[in-house]
Amino acid sequence: MKYLDEYRDARLARALIAGLAKRVTRSWVLMEICGGQTHTLMRYGIDELVPPQIELVHGPGCPVCVTALETIDKAIHIASLPTVTLVSYGDMLRVPGSHSDLFHVRAAGGDVRITYSPMEALKVARAKPDRKLVFLGIGFETTAPANAMAVWQAAREGLGNFSMLASHFLVPPAIRMLLESPKNRVQGFIAPGHVCTVMGYRQYEELSRIYHVPIVVGGFEPVDLLEAISMLVAQLEHGRAQVENQYVRSVGYEGNRPAQELMEKVFEVCDRKWRGIGVIPQSGLRLRGEFAAYDAEKVFGVGDTSAEEPAECISALVLQGLKKPVDCPAFAVRCTPETPLGAPMVSGEGACAAYYQYRRPAQEVREVRVASKSGTFPEGEQDH
Ligand code: SF4
Repeated sequence: MKYLDEYRDARLARALIAGLAKRVTRSWVLMEICGGQTHTLMRYGIDELVPPQIELVHGPGCPVCVTALETIDKAIHIASLPTVTLVSYGDMLRVPGSHSDLFHVRAAGGDVRITYSPMEALKVARAKPDRKLVFLGIGFETTAPANAMAVWQAAREGLGNFSMLASHFLVPPAIRMLLESPKNRVQGFIAPGHVCTVMGYRQYEELSRIYHVPIVVGGFEPVDLLEAISMLVAQLEHGRAQVENQYVRSVGYEGNRPAQELMEKVFEVCDRKWRGIGVIPQSGLRLRGEFAAYDAEKVFGVGDTSAEEPAECISALVLQGLKKPVDCPAFAVRCTPETPLGAPMVSGEGACAAYYQYRRPAQEVREVRVASKSGTFPEGEQDH
């Protein structure tokens, strides 16, 4: 398939790995921001195929993982109301709140539904005017335009029974937070290609310049990521710190201006709490005042709440690249996809779920290396 097979080509992958081995002279710590990229790295065993001097750590780019515990608790409270139909993406239903999750609300008789798009939520609102339809809209800059469109369209139609519990995050302030942390280990970033498809990569130039850190916009297939890693290592080995774009087939410098304009009409930048990490200034989007009638926090009066994270979950350290999921004492013991203690074990993009799903014994890694000598880059198999 065009734009897919060539990015899973074993010969290209092998050449990139060989090039890395020749180029690298010292240890480097690199972080991919997006959880989708984390899963590709683990699924194809890239973290184990690159030279041992290159350490890959995993960033806070999984939206389900960083949605604050308070937001889940608010969603659970709202979904428990008898007049409400709450709609969200599938992963969100299993994310543990302080005492429960949305699946339990549904099991107890709550009207909680799964959707693949906010526009489907609008359809439900139109079809059921006697119900208060609440869309739990989470995500980074990638999903923000579609969620903005749903609110904008609801306002245009005067759809009085639709509102959104919004929890949107912005990538550049999170990178800034990581770089300003005294504990930071990351020396180069793979920026998320889908976010940059919307936002472009101009906004990363300031970060790269101020912190003298290379940033490469990367795609999601194994050859994409190997090429992005090669570009980062080339910069680091030569003492350069620039923004480069590996994902040229999707990302332009300015991004998608109409999508950005719609986001700006509906949302405004705000401080945002990231699960486990805490509040990062100016790192979120919230609905503008003129859309207050569609803001579920205001409609249901659930603005100010606080919640305690479970002490056992070290996801904050994992999402800042300070620990790996396997460093967590609960990993695969008390915390599994069936019994998750933290959101990174729930989400299809979570780092802990990726390690749980794709970690391989040493023998199997050797088999992957042999298999990758010909044909399409082998797909990872589930171990569990
Ligand atoms: S393995 Fe579970 S408890 Fe440990 S950091 Fe990951 S989500 Fe949290």
